[in-house]
Amino acid sequence: MFGLTIPQRYGGLGLGKESMCVVSEELSRGYIGVGSLGTRSEIAAELIMGGGTDEQKERWLPKLAAGEVLPTAVFTEPNSGSDLASIRTRAVRHADVYKIYGNKTWITHPVRADLMTLLVRTNPSESGHRGLSMLLAEKPRGTDDDPFPSAGISGTEIEVLGYRGMKEYEIAFDGFEVKTENLLGGVEGLGFRQLMQTFESARIQTAARAIGVAQAAMEQALAYAQQRQQFGEPIIKFPRVADKIAMMAVEIMVARQLTYFAARRKDSGKRCDLEAGMAKLLAARVAWANADNAVQIHGGNGFALEFPVSRLLCDARILSIFEGAAEIQAQVIARRLLSTSN
Ligand SMILES: Cc1cc2nc3c(=O)[nH]c(=O)nc-3n(C[C@H](O)[C@H](O)[C@H](O)COP(=O)(O)OP(=O)(O)OC[C@H]3O[C@@H](n4cnc5c(N)ncnc54)[C@H](O)[C@@H]3O)c2cc1C
Repeated sequence: MFGLTIPQRYGGLGLGKESMCVVSEELSRGYIGVGSLGTRSEIAAELIMGGGTDEQKERWLPKLAAGEVLPTAVFTEPNSGSDLASIRTRAVRHADVYKIYGNKTWITHPVRADLMTLLVRTNPSESGHRGLSMLLAEKPRGTDDDPFPSAGISGTEIEVLGYRGMKEYEIAFDGFEVKTENLLGGVEGLGFRQLMQTFESARIQTAARAIGVAQAAMEQALAYAQQRQQFGEPIIKFPRVADKIAMMAVEIMVARQLTYFAARRKDSGKRCDLEAGMAKLLAARVAWANADNAVQIHGGNGFALEFPVSRLLCDARILSIFEGAAEIQAQVIARRLLSTSN
C-alpha cells in the first residue's frame, strides 16, 4: 500500500495510478480509514519524486515504500485552507536549521508520523506563493500520553463526525527545528509549485476512496432492501426503492470510469488537472448521494449507530471538503473551460 506507485529502484512496487485507484477503492469499500492509510505516503512520495534532490530521493523513498517512515501532510492553517498560497507559518533560518513558528490545523494522523511534509513561508517579504517552501521535517513518533514529544511542537486533537481512526490535530510550532538540508529540492520559494504538482494524483486517489464508500453504501442498501419486509414483501419490490439502488449503480459506474480515465492520463504523462478535478467532484457527490439514499432505504435503522450505513453517511461527508473542496474543483474545471473557449 505505502510503496504502490513508488518506482522499483526505490523499493516500491512501481505500479501506476490506475492500480492505486483499484487498491484505494477496494480498501475504502471496507472502511475509508484503511483506504486512506496510503494517502499521505502517496503525497510525500509525489513531492519527493517531483521536487526532491537525488539525495532526498535516495534517503526517503525506500523508507516510505517500506512503510518504515509514515509521513503526514502539514499544509492547512486556521486562516488558510482553500487559499494555501496565503499561509503564514514562518521558517526562520539560523545557520543550518530552520526554526518554525505558527499554527497548522486539520492535520491527519500526525502523532504517529515520522516525517512532516511541511509548507512554510521562508520569505516574509513575499506574501504570495513565491515566498513558500516545502520542508521534509523529521519528528519522533508520539503516543496518546505524549503526542508531540519534541521541543517546539504541540497539538490538540479535533473531535470529528466520521473518518474515525485517522485522528485530526491542530498543531502549534514555537521554534521547532528542521535541518536546512531537509528543504525539498534545496531551493527556497518552490514549495507551492511542488505542492501543486501533487494535486492531480491526490485528487484521483480521493476520487477512488469516494467510489469505495459509494460502493459500500450501495451494497448495504441492496442487502437490506432484499431482507427487509413491508406490506408482505421485500422492500426491493417497490419501484421507488429499486430505482434508488439502480441509480446508485449507474452513478458509481460513471464516477469509476471517469476516475480510471484520469488515472490513465496521469500514467501516460498527460496533463489531467481537469479530469482529476471532475473525478474528485463527481465521486464525492456520488458517495454522499449513495450514503444518503442507503440511509433512507434502511428507514429508522439507517439512523442507528448499530448499522454500518450511519457510519458511511458521516464518512462520505468529508470527501467533498478535503483534498480541494468541491467548489475549488468546480473552479479548476470552469477555468479550463474558459481557457479553451477563448
Ligand atoms: C477530516 C479532515 C482531514 C484533513 N486532513 C488534512 C491534512 O492531513 N493536511 C492538511 O494540510 N489539511 C487537511 N485538511 C484540511 C482540508 O484540506 C481543508 O479543510 C480544505 O482545504 C478546506 O479548507 P477550509 O476548511 O479552510 O475551508 P475554507 O477554505 O475556509 O472554505 C470554506 C468554504 O468556502 C468555499 N470556498 C473557499 N474559497 C472559495 C472560492 N475561491 N470559490 C468558491 N468557494 C470557495 C469552500 O469550498 C468551502 O465550502 C483536512 C480537513 C478535514 C476536515
